[in-house]
Parts: sequence; C-alpha cells; structure tokens
Amino acid sequence: MTRSPSWLILGGVMEYLILAVVIAVVAVAAISGLVISGRKKKRLPPPPPSSPTVTAPPAEPHVGEEAETPREEPRRTIEEVDLPGAEAPAATAEAPAPEVPPIEVPEPTAGRLVRLRARLSRSQTTLGKGLLTLLSREHLDDDTWEEVEDTLLTADVGVAPTQELVERLRERVKVLGTRTPDELRGLLREELLHLIGTEADRSVHTESGVGANGEEKPGVVMVVGVNGTGKTTTTGKLARVLVADGKSVVLGAADTFRAAAADQLQTWGERVGARTVRGPEAGDPASVAFDAVKEGIAESADVVLIDTAGRLHTKTGLMDELGKVKRVVEKHGAVDEVLLVLDATTGQNGLVQARVFAEVVDITGIVLTKLDGTAKGGIVVAVQRELNVPVKLVGLGEGADDLAPFEPEAFVDALIGG
Ligand code: GDP
Repeated sequence: MTRSPSWLILGGVMEYLILAVVIAVVAVAAISGLVISGRKKKRLPPPPPSSPTVTAPPAEPHVGEEAETPREEPRRTIEEVDLPGAEAPAATAEAPAPEVPPIEVPEPTAGRLVRLRARLSRSQTTLGKGLLTLLSREHLDDDTWEEVEDTLLTADVGVAPTQELVERLRERVKVLGTRTPDELRGLLREELLHLIGTEADRSVHTESGVGANGEEKPGVVMVVGVNGTGKTTTTGKLARVLVADGKSVVLGAADTFRAAAADQLQTWGERVGARTVRGPEAGDPASVAFDAVKEGIAESADVVLIDTAGRLHTKTGLMDELGKVKRVVEKHGAVDEVLLVLDATTGQNGLVQARVFAEVVDITGIVLTKLDGTAKGGIVVAVQRELNVPVKLVGLGEGADDLAPFEPEAFVDALIGG
C-alpha cells in the first residue's frame, strides 16, 4: 500500500516536532541541574536566633567555602552577658539580699598549743621519740652520738645549736650514769628548753599608744613574708586571736600585688566583724597601709593589722617598697610589731628569707606556719638563732583557729611526749 503525499508531509512535521520537544526537555534538565549544584555550594548558615546577642554574627561564607557549623552551646543574650564593671543585681522585693552570716566567736587562745599538740606528731616522731630512743641505748658510743646529731640536723635544728646540744647531753649523761626513761626525758626536756629559750618576751605587742599628732593610736602590726608562706591566712587568724582576746581590729589589705589577697583578708575580717581597708588592685601598698592606720585611729580601734605583699626576696626593688610601707605607716606613729611569716617546711630556704627581710625591716617576732605538716620542728631553734628574734606564734593547720601563741614548754612537751 502506498501512502498519499499529505501523510508523508504530516509524518515529517511530527518527526521535527518530537525532536524539538526532546531537545527542549534535555536543555531544561541541564540548566536546573547546574543551578542546584551551584546552590549547594553557596548554602548559607542557619539564620541567627531571634533573641539579641552580643556575639558577632557569623561571617558570610565565601563561595566555595564550607558553611560554618552551627555552635552547639546556646548563645547568651545581652542580659546574660557579664559586662565589665557590672554590679551584682541589687536586692529586690522578689530577690531578697543574701543573709549576712553571723559574726563568729573564736575560741580562746590560752592553751591552744596544748590542744593542738597532736598536730606536731611528725616532729614528735622524728625529733622527740628519735632522740629518746637513741639516748636509751645501753652503750652510748660515738656512733650513737653521731646518730643523735643526725636526728637533730634532720629536724632542722641547725649545725651550731646541734653541736651545743650534743656536747651538753654527753656531759650530763656521763654524770648521770645509769638512766631511767623518766630521767632521760627530763634531761632532754631541759636541754631542748635551754636551746629554745624560756626568757624571751613572746607576746604580740598590740597595746595602743600615742600617735604622731598626740592622738590615741591603735597597736600597729605589720605582717611580712614571702608569698605562699601563709601570710594572709596568718593575718586573718591573728585577727581572730585578737578578737577572741576582746580587742577591736581593723585590717589593712596592703598586699595589692596578689589579686585575691584583699578578698581573702576581707573574708577573714567579716567572719569576726573586723573592717578591711583596701585599695585598688595593683595600687600603692604604702597608701593602703597608711589609710588603714588612719581608719584605725578614726574608729578608735585597738589594733590595726597590715597584710603586706609577698615580696620575692630576690627582687631588691620590691623589698625596698616594703621598707617604704613601714616608713609611711610610721607617719602616724610607731609600728609596734613586724611579724615575719615563715613556712616551717621550707627549711634552709626559710632562713635565707629571714635574713633578707631582716635587712629591710626590723623583725620583732616570727610566725612559723605549717608546723603541722613537717618533721622539722627544730626550725624553731634555727630561725631564732638566725634573727635573734623569738618565735611568737605557730601555725598548726588550715583551720581558722589553728594559730597558737608559742609556748616553749608546751612545745617541748609535745615533742617528747611529756
Ligand atoms: P600568702 O601568699 O603568704 O598570703 O599565703 P596564704 O595565706 O594564701 O596561704 C597559703 C596556703 O598555706 C593556704 O592554703 C593556707 O591555708 C596554708 N596555710 C597557712 N598556714 C598554714 C598552717 O599553719 N598549716 C597548714 N597546713 N597550712 C597553712
């Protein structure tokens, strides 16, 4: 069968039409594919949260960069951000002011060393019991006496005092002949007391006096020492000791060198109702000390305690500054005590510190801290010899009332179990 020419023409047109449609579909598909893949690369990060933030909005990623992964932590709103210098929110009717803790009544100071004697257990074992065991041997030959010497040196008694003690003990043991344990204990007690000294005035001088302008001036105590020895803690504990003894105290936070020291001191003061005078951080320590005494005079306080900056004894400039603090305070009148705080665990290093401080200020008393954590109770002897100044207080723990007036008899009894 043959087709008519009109069918032939129609068939040809249809072929062209189908071809045109196919081309058009392929072209559209190709264009939309390109756009989608391009969009994928340019996808923007999720929109920022609707609440206002202070963090900078995420930067628009450049074409071809990976989009920023969303932060996992929630963003803080402006209200939540701590603005520099912002005050704590004032108490409102809904949020009552935090309760002021009641003022503590520290325990009395008399007999504290006796109560805390167990804290000396390490020194007791090394020094007291060690010596008693050695001296109880039947034959006290040269080797034994050498061991006695070693025991004393290990406990930081110091070379010269050790030799003195051994010489005296040797002599007295020879005279004694046979030795009962009680006799030995008595002998050792006497000799250790002889080394430590029972005559020195170990009271902390805090009596008020007459100021530079004829007014009544509180007792002024400066507390000095290297950072970390327990200076600020000791100043706080001493405030408690004085309050326990019925005195009113003003604290001077002249350790402007260590950021947290003023807060630390203020907390100690608040616990016993003592006001703390402080200055700007890294401010002039001498002016804070001056203001503290001025405040003490204005308030008719009994005692002003000044915590000074922990001076690195190797830095001459800083040590000079300590001398300046004292001179500036003395414009109000005499400083009654300069207490040097030494960490008993630092041994010879503590003695070096003592020497350097004594060159800058007249030390009138020593506070030995951390005697609870050491077997080196003999440092009491060594440091007194070094400075020719008595140990007046000892720190026997981190507790608020673990600072005790130093009593030689109670100390020796604690060492040898008397
Ligand atoms: P500062 O830098 O000299 O003012 O030292 P701090 O007063 O801040 O004390 C340093 C650390 O020593 C603190 O952790 C105190 O609790 C601790 N400390 C102070 N005195 C004594 C003490 O007598 N015994 C013990 N075990 N720790 C003490």
